[in-house]
Amino acid sequence: IALLALTACSERSDSSGGGSADSGKGFAANSLIGVALPAKTSENWVLAGDLFTNGLKEAGFQSDVQYAGASSTVADQQAQISAMVTKGAKVIVIGATDAAQLSTQVKQAKEAGATVIAYDRLIKNTPDVDYYVAYDNFKVGQLQGQALLDGMKAKKPNGPYTIELFSGSPDDNNSAVFFDGAMDVLKPEIDKGNVVVGSGQTDIKQTATQGWKAENAQQRMDSLLNSTYSSKTLDGVLSPNDTLARAILTSVKGAGKPLPVVTGQDSEVESVKSIMAGEQYSTINKDTRNLVKQTIEMVKALQAGNAPQINDPNSYNNGVKIVPSYLLPPQIVTKANAAEAYANDPTLSALTK
Ligand code: BGC
Repeated sequence: IALLALTACSERSDSSGGGSADSGKGFAANSLIGVALPAKTSENWVLAGDLFTNGLKEAGFQSDVQYAGASSTVADQQAQISAMVTKGAKVIVIGATDAAQLSTQVKQAKEAGATVIAYDRLIKNTPDVDYYVAYDNFKVGQLQGQALLDGMKAKKPNGPYTIELFSGSPDDNNSAVFFDGAMDVLKPEIDKGNVVVGSGQTDIKQTATQGWKAENAQQRMDSLLNSTYSSKTLDGVLSPNDTLARAILTSVKGAGKPLPVVTGQDSEVESVKSIMAGEQYSTINKDTRNLVKQTIEMVKALQAGNAPQINDPNSYNNGVKIVPSYLLPPQIVTKANAAEAYANDPTLSALTK
């Protein structure tokens, strides 16, 4: 009878979409957890894969960690998520390749009783995403905007300053949030005339970097230098991440121009080196270890039948619902505070000595 009751109970939780935002159901401690990550467009994604594999194992779960390939990223990720659903994953953690192209797959996941957690990047236009865990993306943008102003001021105390703006891939929800955060700080200065966008390209569509690809940023910087900077001086460039920051610097070096103040994000090894060498101006510390740890905490809570902890119930509207979120605080890093910022990261801290 006990066995029958158990079976009935697990059937009920399966068919009712168990483990969704309503807590109390839980699942077996050694269940399969799926992790679908985008292509390795920056170092944080490379780190996340290993951290999920090891962390989930340590927590007693089975895991299936997949990356989308470099070319057919969207189709790859869609197929990977469907396969995780078929294999019976209880939670599917997704770093979306394209925020708006996963509705069918997350619907399948929900119908099979899995909980869907959007990791780092929000999944849009679907009711079937339960939680979001990320660094505070708007804050990242604000820190980048402020660092750009501070860096330019340190080099040249008085404006006006001439800058260019770059943003990330349009299919990543974060790109617009980073850009809006940065413009929240830069726009008042642009309106005052203290900061001038040399090319006049201030619309996010004009500044986008498809696929977060370095070569796309480098090409755009090449053509901006040709069109606008044959005689004008470029004081600063808003770059949304480190990979693109280095591409922008490569372009400027190639043109034989003085290096502008360039922002970044992710604390990639090559960029931390560049910052210490006085080339790239800033990056953002979004320790991937903490983000993965927080996500695994959510998985553990769901396993135990508890509601995962969230700290931001209102910020992230995905177009259909407000997704309960846990946001971690990002930190700005320049040469001045790098040693302190990376003190607990052996790889990065070695670069600051
Ligand atoms: C992440 C950034 C990363 C970018 C490119 C974004 O969604 O938040 O940290 O630089 O993707 O991979």
